[in-house]
Amino acid sequence: MRIAIGGISYEGSNFSPIPVGANDFVVRTGGDLLSCGRYPFLDDLARSVDAPVEFVPTLHARSGPGGPLERAAYEAFKRGFVKALAAAGPVDGLYLDLHGALFVEGMEDAELDWALAARRVVGNACLISASMDLHGNISPAFAQAVDMLTAYRTAPHADVIETRQRALALLIGCLERRERPTVAQVTVPVLLPGERSSTAAEPAAALYARLPGVDRRAGILDASLFMGFAWSDEPRTSAAVTVTGFDRAAQERAAAELAQALWDARTDFSYAVPFGTIDDCIHQALAAGVAPVFISDAGDNPTAGAVGDVPLFLERLLALDVPDAVLAAIPDREAVAVCMAAGEGSEVSLTVGGKLDRRHGPPLPVAGHVERLVMGDPETGSQAVVRVGGVRLILTERRKAFTELADFAAVGIDPRAHKIVVVKLGYLFPELARTAALALLALSPGVSDLELTRLPYRRVRRPIYPLDPQMEWQAMGK
Ligand SMILES: [Zn+2]
Repeated sequence: MRIAIGGISYEGSNFSPIPVGANDFVVRTGGDLLSCGRYPFLDDLARSVDAPVEFVPTLHARSGPGGPLERAAYEAFKRGFVKALAAAGPVDGLYLDLHGALFVEGMEDAELDWALAARRVVGNACLISASMDLHGNISPAFAQAVDMLTAYRTAPHADVIETRQRALALLIGCLERRERPTVAQVTVPVLLPGERSSTAAEPAAALYARLPGVDRRAGILDASLFMGFAWSDEPRTSAAVTVTGFDRAAQERAAAELAQALWDARTDFSYAVPFGTIDDCIHQALAAGVAPVFISDAGDNPTAGAVGDVPLFLERLLALDVPDAVLAAIPDREAVAVCMAAGEGSEVSLTVGGKLDRRHGPPLPVAGHVERLVMGDPETGSQAVVRVGGVRLILTERRKAFTELADFAAVGIDPRAHKIVVVKLGYLFPELARTAALALLALSPGVSDLELTRLPYRRVRRPIYPLDPQMEWQAMGK
């Protein structure tokens, strides 16, 4: 049994004006791909079957969320993958390790393009199994291009490795039994931001709890619920259900049931923490008798593909004369350079942010005191902490999400010593959630705006909820 492994994992927002290129990606090939930690279960899987199993690495490219992927970079990754796949010789199975929300400049449904390129190499006899993030957007054509498909069942994602293992176990099982499954797919016309569909809360918890029961039905191997990636604008952008199996009628029935349940729950999805405008959140934080209060500047969240340099929140903190706040962080190469040239302890005049994402607020002129400079970290570049009024503003040379205490410690800041900590995130990552005495979600404008009706959708298939709130829809018979 020879099984090739490869793919591309990237979540790209086409609302972001900043494209990403090949240099933003980690590319793994050969033995490095098999041993990099993405698939720690390969030996166990191989031992679980009687026939000898050989895993054949091809190419896998990945990067954290961002804007559109440059077309040339995508084509180069695909060429490398196809070449390695062809060089691998005949394979019985192919596992595609994908995210599902890859947006490439000038393309739509990039994962379909990748899967079709793979199919041209491996031929029709080869079984293709894919796994994705539940924040992937699944077109009917993609579901048809692969033989099996599964997705994460938790958000925040706690089953990443387990999902990859399930995709490979499904593939190996079908090869062993010489069975060829299909994937039934139902597009559910709903756009949902991740912040309203945590599987730790209802209604997502109950929806995902139904999946194992569906998996066990006769003729069905796997049921998957995709919440989709709402900050992209393609015809495929939406929630979806897929059911992999051997009994088409049972699969379609199960997919329709789950799709209807998701549709029926569409208005029940809500935020797990208090939310409001930027000003609402600042007032609520100041009035709270606890500290630190973390406020997520959710519209400008780099972990959802946004740019992170919208200075609107800083402007409001200063306008409201907030006495003690940290803002983490704004990527601004020029402003960091000014701070570096001036040196620690200097007074500086800066124009902050608004240089990359120009649509959501102009650069903000501020005068401040350079408290701290941190030189050239390979990931973030240099960083500066500038005190502006009551705000400690963290400036980074490159885009950086502050997701844990160590990120703050690296610039000499302990969030626990401050009243308000503003982060460019959606939901807080676990350590920050534990640190926050109170967490608030600011529905601020930006590329990752949680108020989806404010985003300039043009390509998404209409009608779709909530852009067309009055629409009606039935899953049965789809
Ligand atoms: Zn995700």
